[in-house]
Amino acid sequence: MGPSLPYPVKAAVTRVRSVAWLAKARGRYPKPGGLRILFYHRVSDDPDELAVTPRRFAEQMDYLASNGYSVVNISEAVRLLRGGTIPPRTVALNFDDGFLDVAENALGVLADRGFRATVFVATGVTDGRFKFAWCREQPPLLSWEQIAELDREGTLEFEAHSISHPNLLCVDDDRARSEIRGSKAELEDRLGRRVTAFSYPAGLFGVRERRLVAEAGFGTAVSCEPGVNYPDTDRLALRRRQIDARDRLLDFRAKLGGGHDTPLPLRGTYRRLRFGEGVANPRLTSSRR
Ligand SMILES: [Zn+2]
Repeated sequence: MGPSLPYPVKAAVTRVRSVAWLAKARGRYPKPGGLRILFYHRVSDDPDELAVTPRRFAEQMDYLASNGYSVVNISEAVRLLRGGTIPPRTVALNFDDGFLDVAENALGVLADRGFRATVFVATGVTDGRFKFAWCREQPPLLSWEQIAELDREGTLEFEAHSISHPNLLCVDDDRARSEIRGSKAELEDRLGRRVTAFSYPAGLFGVRERRLVAEAGFGTAVSCEPGVNYPDTDRLALRRRQIDARDRLLDFRAKLGGGHDTPLPLRGTYRRLRFGEGVANPRLTSSRR
C-alpha cells in the first residue's frame, strides 16, 4: 500500500494534538447540536496498530458512562440527525471489518452500560472468499452464525462494508457496483432484514462511489473524514474519527471533543503517496481501513 508514517511518529503527533486541545478547550466540549461518530477495528491485546486493548476500551466506555453520554449505533444516529435535534452528549460508535475480538472483548463492556454500536462487515472476507490485503496473518473474524445471532440480540447491529474490501477508487464501474450492491444483498440474505448503511473500505470514495451507494439503496454511508455530523451533513458521507492503539484516555477525550477534527498538514500528499493518483480530492476521500 506504499509508505506509512512510522508508528511512534503517529503516536507523538496524536499526543501533541491532544495536549493542544486540552490547553485550548480545558476539557470542555464545544458546539452542541452535532453528533460525533467514533470508530474502532479491534479490541485486543495483540500488537496491532488497529487494536485497542480491552483495558483501554473499558476505560474509554467508563469515561462515556460516567460523563453521562448516550452511546448509539449508526441507525439511531441517523434517526436523530433526521429528527433534527441531537440530545447533548450523544455519540455513535462503530467497528469496521467484523473481527471476533469485538464480540469477545467489547460486547460485554457495551452491553453492561446499555451502549449500542454498529459493525461493518465485508461479506466476502467474512465467509473466506477474500482476505484483508493489509493482514499478514488475518485475525479471526465473526462467523455468519455469530453475526446473525448478535444482530438479533441488539447490542451490535451489522451493516455493509463491500464484499472483498477493495480500494473502490481503483476498480472499474462494474466491479465497484457489484461490490457495493452485492454486499447489501448478501448481508440482507444472512440477516433477514434490510441493510441501510455502508462503510467505504479504507474510507476511500469519490463522486462515483457515492452515486453507486445511493443507487444500491443505502440511505447512509460513513467516511473516515473527521468532524461532527449535523442534520444537514451529507448522509452518504458521514464523518467519523478512528480510535486505535496509540490513543490514551487524553487522546480519546480530545477526539471526542473535536481536538483532532482538522486534517494534518501534508495529508493530501501523504495519501497520494500511500493510495496513488486516484486520490484526487481530499475532501471526498480518506485513508483508514
Ligand atoms: Zn475496513
